[in-house]
Amino acid sequence: MKRRSFFKFSLATAFTSILKPQSIFGMQALKNPGRNSNPVVISTWSHGIEANEAAWKVLGNSGSSLDAVEQGVKITESDLSNRSVGIGGRPDRTGHVTLDACIMDERSRCGAVACIEGILHPISVARAVMERTQHVMLVGEGARSFALDCGFETCKTPIKEVKKDWKEWKKENKEAFEKPVINHENHDTIGMLAIDAQGNISGSCTTSGWAYKLPGRVGDSPIIGAGLFIDNEVGGACATGMGEAIIRIAGSHTVVEFMRQGHHPEKACKLAVERIISKHEDVQGLQCGFIAIDKSGQVGGYSVYNGFNYAMKSSDTEKILIDAPFDRKW
Ligand code: ASP
Repeated sequence: MKRRSFFKFSLATAFTSILKPQSIFGMQALKNPGRNSNPVVISTWSHGIEANEAAWKVLGNSGSSLDAVEQGVKITESDLSNRSVGIGGRPDRTGHVTLDACIMDERSRCGAVACIEGILHPISVARAVMERTQHVMLVGEGARSFALDCGFETCKTPIKEVKKDWKEWKKENKEAFEKPVINHENHDTIGMLAIDAQGNISGSCTTSGWAYKLPGRVGDSPIIGAGLFIDNEVGGACATGMGEAIIRIAGSHTVVEFMRQGHHPEKACKLAVERIISKHEDVQGLQCGFIAIDKSGQVGGYSVYNGFNYAMKSSDTEKILIDAPFDRKW
């Protein structure tokens, strides 16, 4: 499905779901899930289809889940028409495109960058932080100069189209601190989770964050435990949507802990969404979603509002964009 038609689909379904958590997908729970050795990759939103294809080139050739989740989301980061991931993303309110990303592997190693500017592939910088430093996260200028030292590709931001949109936004939003609404048009982080043929799980997450955010704002996406969490003994989860709400419950870690308690990935995502809802007096306009995979390869996802999709690929499932059946019961 093309991005534009996906938006139309999303808007149509969103209007039918008012303040009601929606199930988006669920596979039959196995009684005693064992370790999966059939590669599987899932990623958020319709841009996950192309990203999964790139990940599959790695997974289908017995490559590692870590390589797969890096290669996969690089496709989305390179897509200059994507206004929520990579250098084509929308800027902060001062016109700076600042990017956040993180990655985590089966050994619980992790790396992240936040508020990095002018670098084509923040996910690869995050991986370099994990593999080449003793740290987990680098931010801002420090992250950028590390990326330059490592020789990562740079680019000038904002790109023309983004600058034009931002100028128009500025005209219409003279009150500098007006809060932009998270909706289908201004968010779309890509989060990706993969299991490889060795049964190892890794994940990645990359975004330009909340459109027209305050300068310096960092959401959940580069925060291990919030935007992404992997425990190879249990499974992995990643998040999309309003990062501030996801951080408040350490969302992705919470999903993994629910799976540890024996819940199916979809149920685990639902429980995390319900916890977010329980921490807010008003969830009007608050969209958050999680996707998750467990060690046996079962997948699931759930969001506050309907209209959230994700893509899955395995050896016998080609390019499936999973949409939202209503009122799923467990
Ligand atoms: N979670 C991202 C953030 O808060 C944005 C999004 O997924 O829409 O930065």
